[in-house]
Amino acid sequence: MRVHRLLEHTRAEGPGVRLCIWVQGCRRHCEGCFAADTWDPDGGCEMTVGEITQRIRKVRDSIDGITFLGGEPFEQAGEAAEVCAAARGYGLSVIVFTGGTYESLEQEYGSGARALLDNTDLLIDGQFAVEKRDLSRPLVGSLNQRFIFLTDRIGMEKIESYKNRFEVRISPEGTVTVNGMGDLEELKRRLIAGGNDENDIRY
Ligand code: SF4
Repeated sequence: MRVHRLLEHTRAEGPGVRLCIWVQGCRRHCEGCFAADTWDPDGGCEMTVGEITQRIRKVRDSIDGITFLGGEPFEQAGEAAEVCAAARGYGLSVIVFTGGTYESLEQEYGSGARALLDNTDLLIDGQFAVEKRDLSRPLVGSLNQRFIFLTDRIGMEKIESYKNRFEVRISPEGTVTVNGMGDLEELKRRLIAGGNDENDIRY
């Protein structure tokens, strides 16, 4: 599948420590999307399901679950479903973000969507809507986005106790990578004020 980024340990993409996979490719092109570099379906890199599940297997004892986001995970639903099934086989929880709505996913993406939903514990649905921007809830950026609990593995109490945060990593070459949720413009101002070059900051 096309992958934008894979991060083995993060506390900024859902409850607990999670391996996070940003898929490459999204046709929605929401106004105000801060992951526009994930839109191009030919960008990123190719990883097989086997390569991704191998990475999960390697760290399974040090993580609580995996998170799929993007990009649009449902554009590669069949392969994402296989990865999620393997993660669950290792006893891990699965969170999947989508810009679609729960009710429309099967119609929009076919049988792969059903398989992905069947292997998801928490679906966070809804396209980012800049006119409904709201950062008061964890993990979501606009009021139309919903938490759909497909199993009781991750309940509302875990979401309510989760606090939005950013993680910032600086490579030896000086590239700054940022992930997580919050006021990105404020963070960017602070990073630049701290002496970082805007061109070296990646999200
Ligand atoms: S669905 Fe997500 S990744 Fe795709 S354009 Fe909208 S906000 Fe960006």
